[in-house]
Amino acid sequence: MRIVIIGAGVVGVAAAHALLAEGHSVTFVDPAGFGEGASKGNAGWIAHMDVMPLASPKAWRNLPRWLVDPLGPLAIRPGYLPRLAPWFLRFALASRPARIRASIEAIGALNCAALPAWHRLLTAVGEQGRLRPSGILSVFGSERALAAAAPVLATQERFGIPHERLDRARLAALEPALGEAAQAGVLYPTGCHVDDPFGLATALGEAALARGARLTRGEAVAISTAGSLGVRLAGGDTLPADRVVLAAGAWSRGLALQAGDAVPLDTERGYNVTFAPGALGLSRPVMFEGEGFVTSPLSGGDRVGGAVEFAGLAAAPNYARVDAILSRLARFLPEADLAGGTRWMGFRPSIPDSLPVIGPARRDARILYAFGHGHHGLTQAAVTAEILAALVAERAHAVSAKPFSAQRFGRS
Ligand SMILES: Cc1cc2nc3c(=O)[nH]c(=O)nc-3n(C[C@H](O)[C@H](O)[C@H](O)COP(=O)(O)OP(=O)(O)OC[C@H]3O[C@@H](n4cnc5c(N)ncnc54)[C@H](O)[C@@H]3O)c2cc1C
Repeated sequence: MRIVIIGAGVVGVAAAHALLAEGHSVTFVDPAGFGEGASKGNAGWIAHMDVMPLASPKAWRNLPRWLVDPLGPLAIRPGYLPRLAPWFLRFALASRPARIRASIEAIGALNCAALPAWHRLLTAVGEQGRLRPSGILSVFGSERALAAAAPVLATQERFGIPHERLDRARLAALEPALGEAAQAGVLYPTGCHVDDPFGLATALGEAALARGARLTRGEAVAISTAGSLGVRLAGGDTLPADRVVLAAGAWSRGLALQAGDAVPLDTERGYNVTFAPGALGLSRPVMFEGEGFVTSPLSGGDRVGGAVEFAGLAAAPNYARVDAILSRLARFLPEADLAGGTRWMGFRPSIPDSLPVIGPARRDARILYAFGHGHHGLTQAAVTAEILAALVAERAHAVSAKPFSAQRFGRS
């Protein structure tokens, strides 16, 4: 089949390989080229242990504290509040215990398949050296904070994700750069990260071109379904297709609406700063629990990032967020020199129940969605690609696509 993929971020390029492997012909449509969206500057984590949705009792407990601090881990720009209201209502609905349980099951199923899918994809294209199996560390400010995380650890255990608890002495032995503010930890030995998220997305894109895919630089403005299927570009041209994959990340809402699905997609803007390699003195990715930021040792440098900001796709970045992250990080890394660095802001494609949207459009099953992966688009890209290829082939996949259907939000 001729398959047009709208969006060449990590989800789009991973999808291309799964479809090329089945003998389809693939054309990417993206005005920016490979990996220039959220996939460019993320933290590089294959965070398969992260099975909890954002909508949770923990988020609601922290929300009042976060909202009074405009530079805290989660912020809403006041002017954006009316636009965000429908998303927030869905977020409240997704926070009910039964919905949280359902979200955990769906995320867990996807995440448990995520790493094996990455191994398969990277091996197929000769890029397996990009995965760094150094484990992932969570750091807590006190033993009490670690004790409070017991239900999360129990849930991860249920999904077969191993962990090791660390007291202050073992934590300091593992990562000597961590100061006294880090009092306890959890090591996830099977956690891993990629060497360079942008390098990965571009390498996968180039490898797809080498396998016969084409890249059309342009903006998709409509998917025509009357008669033959096609993707209309901003310049007026139409690319004919047998199937269309919508993988335009945070920019997918308008095209999904045209295809009959009012998906509550918004963006959680995230920030980071990248220092020289080794600047932080940490040998593996670290999550600072309750602080809303993480660090990653990448090939291009040590990255510190996080924050959730609701301000839409058009507002200018507020890099004071990076300063706020760094002043909190300084407590944990007393010896690190946190001056300088390269700053970046990206648009996480966010759905209120923390589940991506994967599956056919309401009005035309020849249109398939693959967007809305929020904090886990890199983690889940390869397994999403496999699910998509199975849907195109009308074949079952080990991970059911049902919980990720766009139709879970009702009619448009
Ligand atoms: C600070 C930060 C840290 C993160 N850390 C991690 C992490 O460690 N691990 C993890 O798993 N995830 C992480 N994420 C999330 C992850 O980056 C995203 O979920 C993922 O990159 C989304 O990929 P995507 O391909 O769906 O979207 P994108 O990478 O945003 O790509 C979408 C593409 O669609 C194109 N596009 C948009 N509109 C159109 C149109 N009309 N026509 C054609 N093309 C269009 C854009 O140009 C873009 O190239 C992080 C995100 C941020 C912001």
